[in-house]
Amino acid sequence: MTSGTQLHFRSCPFCEAACGTRVTANHVLRTIEDVRGDHEDPFSKGFVCPKAYALTQLHSDPDRLRKPLRRKGRDFEEISFEEAIAEAGDRLRAIQQKHGQHSVAYYFGNPTGHKPPLLLYGPVLMKALGSMQVYSPGTLDQIPKFYSAVYMFGGPLIQPLADLDRVRHLIVIGNNPVVSQGSMMVAPGIRRRLEAIRARGGKLVVIDPRRTETAAISDEYVAIRPGTDALLLLAMAHVIEREGLVDLGNVEGITRGLDDVLAIASRFPPERVAAATGIAANTIEHLALEFARADGAAIYGRTGTCTQAFGSVTSWLIDVLNTISGNLDKVGGNLFTGGGIPLGVLFEDNCVDGVFPSGRWHSRVDGLPETVSMLPTAGLANEMLVPGEGQVRGFVTQAGNVMLSNPNAAKLERAFESLEFMLSLDIYVNETTRHADIIIPGPSYAEHSDFAAVTPYETIRKFVKWAPPVFAPEPGMPHDFEIFNGIAARLKETTPEEIEEAYVRETIQVALDNGRPEAREVPYEQARAAVGDEPGPDRIFDILIRGGPMGDAFGAVPDGLTLEKVKQHPHGLDLGPLDEGMLPGILRTPDRKVDLAPGPLVEDVARLEASLASLENRDTMLMIGRRTMRSKNAWMHNIHLLVKGKDRCTLRVHPDDAERLGLATGGSARVATDIAEVVAPVEVDDEMMPGVVSLPHGWGHDMDGARQQVAREHPGVNANSLIDESMIDVPSASNILNGVPVRIEAA
Ligand code: SF4
Repeated sequence: MTSGTQLHFRSCPFCEAACGTRVTANHVLRTIEDVRGDHEDPFSKGFVCPKAYALTQLHSDPDRLRKPLRRKGRDFEEISFEEAIAEAGDRLRAIQQKHGQHSVAYYFGNPTGHKPPLLLYGPVLMKALGSMQVYSPGTLDQIPKFYSAVYMFGGPLIQPLADLDRVRHLIVIGNNPVVSQGSMMVAPGIRRRLEAIRARGGKLVVIDPRRTETAAISDEYVAIRPGTDALLLLAMAHVIEREGLVDLGNVEGITRGLDDVLAIASRFPPERVAAATGIAANTIEHLALEFARADGAAIYGRTGTCTQAFGSVTSWLIDVLNTISGNLDKVGGNLFTGGGIPLGVLFEDNCVDGVFPSGRWHSRVDGLPETVSMLPTAGLANEMLVPGEGQVRGFVTQAGNVMLSNPNAAKLERAFESLEFMLSLDIYVNETTRHADIIIPGPSYAEHSDFAAVTPYETIRKFVKWAPPVFAPEPGMPHDFEIFNGIAARLKETTPEEIEEAYVRETIQVALDNGRPEAREVPYEQARAAVGDEPGPDRIFDILIRGGPMGDAFGAVPDGLTLEKVKQHPHGLDLGPLDEGMLPGILRTPDRKVDLAPGPLVEDVARLEASLASLENRDTMLMIGRRTMRSKNAWMHNIHLLVKGKDRCTLRVHPDDAERLGLATGGSARVATDIAEVVAPVEVDDEMMPGVVSLPHGWGHDMDGARQQVAREHPGVNANSLIDESMIDVPSASNILNGVPVRIEAA
C-alpha cells in the first residue's frame, strides 16, 4: 500500500450479483487504483468478473459529468447545482400545471438498481410528480415474470428461486447465468455453483437457441426455436401428467387450478409441438421424465423467456412445472425470498383486497396495462407523439439510456424532440440525455455508501452488507438524495427537509404495518427516535433492516438486526440459505393459495395455440440477443477496459445459413426488418441454431450529440432499432426482443 492509498471493502456496483470487492483508492489523487475480488466476502468468496475492475476507469472517466448542464441552442452550458435543481423543479411543475399531472413521464434505468441512493430516492421524485406515466427497462425484460407471480402468488416479488446450491437437476431455459451471474436468482460465482450440481451427482440441462457459455458446461444441451418455450413446457406438463408423476409436495392443499392447467397441457402432446420447437418428441419426453423423477429439481428461466411473444405464459408455465413436480417451496427445488430476507418491504406492490397490481390503469394511446405501477415502454413514444388530453409533454430520465435500450430508436428520437421539457439525472451525455434540457449528474459510485438494496429480493442466500463511501463527493457536488429531495421540494413548493421527513415517516409506517409482527406494536415515535436525524439513504436502509423479518423492530427485538450491527461485518453478513415452509404465509392471492391456472394467463394460451402453424414456419430467420461478459445493456461502453479488443457487437450465424446467404466471418451482413436495417460484422459460429442469428443489444453509439468518446470509437449497431415497438407479449405488453423475424443478406 503506497502513501495516500487505502483499502476499502465494497460491493461491485455493476450488476445484481454485487460481488464483494477489495478497492484500493488513492486519497491524494482521488483515484481508484485497483479492484479485486474479496475472498473474505462470505457470499461471493473472491469471485469477480472483468467488469469489476472497470470502476477504476469509470470513476476517472473525463466524460463523466461533474457539473449540471443546461441546453443552449444545440449545445449545453454548465450551471450550478442550485440553479439546475431549482429550474428542473420549476419547469416540471409548470408542465403539470399547464397539461395535467400525468403529462410528465418518468423512466428509471437499470443502473438505478445498483446505486442505492437512486433506488431509494428516485421514488421521492416520482411520488412528488404523482404521474401514472412511470417506465423502466423492467417493463422490457422483467414484467412477464412479475405478471405471472402477481397472478400465481399475489405479488411480483413473491418469486420462487432455484435452490442453486442444493438442487440436483436444474434446467436453465432462455438464460445464460455463467455470463450474467443470474438475475432473479442471483448467485455470484455461479459457474462453480453450476458445476457443483454435477459433482453431487446431479445434472445441468440448458435449453436455448444458442449453445451458450452455460450450455458449454452443461450435461445436456437442447436447441429450441425462439418463442416456443411455452409449447415445450406444456408438452412436458403433458408427459408428467400422463405418466402419473404429478406431485404437489409441500404445497399440497394450498393450490388451486391444478385440473385446469393439466387439462390445457393435455392438448399439447410432445408430437404436436415437436415441429414448432425443433425438439424431437422423444427428447421432450425424456426432459420431462428426468425432471419429474429427480430428487430436487428446478426450471430457471429469465431474460430469454420474458422477452418473447409468449413471455407471460412461459413464465407461468415454468412455475407450474416447478409446482407439479413437487419442487415448490422445497429445499433442493425452489424457495422464496419473501419474508426470509434481511430487508423490509418497501418495494412490494401486492394484491390488496382482491385487486391485482396489473391493469389498474392503461396507457392513454395504446391501452396497454400497467403492471406493478409501471406502464410498458412499448407505449412510451406514442404517449409523447399523439396529441390529446394527457399527452406527455415533460420527461424525466434517471440513469437510463432509453434510445438504445428500447425498440424503434427512430420513433423515440421524434418523440423526445417533441417534448416541451426533458430532465436527465445522469452522469453522461449519451444517446438519450443529449435530448435533455437539463442534465444533473450525481456523485460517482465510489462517493456514496454502499449496500445492495435490490439484490436481497432475488438472491439465493440471506445476505446483507454495507460499506462507507470511498471518497466524499467532490466539492460543490450534492449527494444524490439532496438532488432528488431538492427537485421534489421545488415541485411541491416546500423544503427539502420536509420532503425528507415525509419520506422517513412514510417508510417507517410501511415498516411498522408490513414488517415483522413485533414491529406492529411499536409506536411511531419510538421507531422515529430509533433511526436518528441523519438524512439520506443510510437511514432508509436502517429502517428497511429494522422493520424487516430479521430486524430489531425498532428496539422491540433486541437481538434483531440494525444497520449498526451490519456495519460490524465489513465483508458482509451471511445469514444462511433460504428456508422452505414460506407458503402459504407469504402468499397474497385473495384465497391465500397458489393459483396454477390464473384467468389472464389461461386466456393467452389460445393465442399460443393459434400461432402453432406460424411457429412451424422455417422460411424466416429469427434474431435473438446475446449477453457478453464485458457488456451490460447500454451503460458500460465508455470504459476502454471493457470495449478494447475484438468487436463484440457482431451478428452470429450458423455455418449452414452463412453458406446459403454468402456470409463469412470478417464480412458484413445487412439485417433488415420492416422498420429499419443495420449492417453488422459477421461471425460464423456453429453455436447458433440453424435459422437463428444473434446480435447483442445496447450498442449504436454513433448518434450526433452524445459525448462518450470511447463508446463512439466502438459504436456497434443498434439491434433494438430493428424492432417494432408495437410487437408485444399481450398479457404483460412487454416488447418482443427475441425471436424477431429478420431478412439477412451480405453487405
Ligand atoms: S458479476 Fe461482475 S459485474 Fe456483476 S457484481 Fe460481480 S464483478 Fe460486478
